[in-house]
Amino acid sequence: MEAYQQKFEQLNGAVRVRFAPSPTGFLHIGSARTALFNYLFAKANNGIFILRIEDTDRERSLKIYEDDILEGLKWLGLNWDEGPEIGGDYGPYYQSQRIEIYQQYLERLISEDKAYRCFCTKEELTALKQEMQSRGEIYKYNGKCRNLTNQEIESNLKENKPFIVRLKTPSIKVTFNDLIRGKITSDLSLLGDFTISRGFNEPLYNFTAAIDDYEMKITQVIRGEDHIPNTSKQIIIQQLLGFDSPLYAHIPLILGPDRSKLSKRHGATSLKNYKEDGYLSEALVNFLALLGWHSSSDREIYSLEELCREFSLDRVQKSGAIFNINKLDWFNHYYLGKKDLNDLLPQALEFYFKENILKPKEEEWLFESASGEVFDKNYLFKVLSLLIERIKKLSQLVELSDFFFKEPQYNSDLLIWRDVTKEKIKENLEKMLEKINEIKEEDFTKENLEKAIMVLYQDDRGEFLWPLRACLTGKESSPGPFEIAEILGKEKTIKRINYAINLLEK
Ligand code: GLU
Repeated sequence: MEAYQQKFEQLNGAVRVRFAPSPTGFLHIGSARTALFNYLFAKANNGIFILRIEDTDRERSLKIYEDDILEGLKWLGLNWDEGPEIGGDYGPYYQSQRIEIYQQYLERLISEDKAYRCFCTKEELTALKQEMQSRGEIYKYNGKCRNLTNQEIESNLKENKPFIVRLKTPSIKVTFNDLIRGKITSDLSLLGDFTISRGFNEPLYNFTAAIDDYEMKITQVIRGEDHIPNTSKQIIIQQLLGFDSPLYAHIPLILGPDRSKLSKRHGATSLKNYKEDGYLSEALVNFLALLGWHSSSDREIYSLEELCREFSLDRVQKSGAIFNINKLDWFNHYYLGKKDLNDLLPQALEFYFKENILKPKEEEWLFESASGEVFDKNYLFKVLSLLIERIKKLSQLVELSDFFFKEPQYNSDLLIWRDVTKEKIKENLEKMLEKINEIKEEDFTKENLEKAIMVLYQDDRGEFLWPLRACLTGKESSPGPFEIAEILGKEKTIKRINYAINLLEK
């Protein structure tokens, strides 16, 4: 807390931005990008990144979603300077804990005749809506309760009639200078008196956001383009309360490759799904940063720290940002290859655990397969080094490497190379077996294996290498047989060749 205080005093009112998610769903990839842009903007300007939980919708806000949002941000490395868990001078950072603050402002707006209670029933409002629509007009509240007398209000309240609070929206135009899109003007006369609260206990989004952005001294609001219609509402609320408004920057929507609204169909899901699928946070950060932003050099690879130095809003594009899952795979492949395998191993192991291929033993760094065989760290390390180049995400590991932890199951057809006969394949396996048997256990390396077997090749090495590789892995494709045999070791290699020979005898 003290450190924060010091920092803020030094900054003397500099940049303060917020990420303000509603915990009504898991942290979506689009929201994660909004959080990232806010974080980067804060860091690039030596500012403060605030996390505010917009949980006024009690029914739809759930703790599991809130936890997921916090966890997701931490996983990406977007640590907030003020907000849940750490507090700050402008808390509470949960809107559900700020109801009294909103109530004070509601009362003030009403007493200053800038807002009013509306007692119209749902039925009345629906009828009004239908009537206007049938005339081809856009719905706007007709102002029936705008000028109720004090007596009428008192008697409605006495009767406990439910009400909503509407803003007395002035018929003016509101203009703001969007930091990305330039001047944006909205005609509020088209809007009518919109609802800012249900009763006094359920203040609504545009109102609470307008209040909190002011109360929390937010200097720039960076959020998705879909919020543009809300901005004029928030500005007018702030104007009526005599507040200065923050600056606004509306970042482009994320679109699918077909330029339609981004959806699951494009491979876009919640952040936790990517994590569970074996994407690295470095890859996601890099990928998300380039969804709407690019550097002056069009360079593509950026760490979070580098982005913090380079990010600026004037390099954020206006047009939609295209989400391309192949690009994410490309980044992930790159970061997988760069990562220290020792750091990667614990993450990789989770996938073997999940698929019940391995389970941890009591002893550290020993793992047991389903058949009870024990593997050590060294073995896992070798498997991972062999496969890391071939995968785009960690979830692919299990499928590509299960044969290192259990006997492969396959049909004898798999052993056949092109139009070579079954007999010939069997004979080749027997020849290789003989050579492999001669190699001493301590010399069982891929180089020695290759040397020993190379002498057998005549025209077509496929008729040796294919069945050898197939019998070791049980798969159509995999890394080469010598590298695999070296990791499996002499005993298992021989056992698998024997099994294949038997299969071909049948
Ligand atoms: N709670 C709003 C949302 O999740 C916040 C929008 C804003 O940044 O103002 O969409």
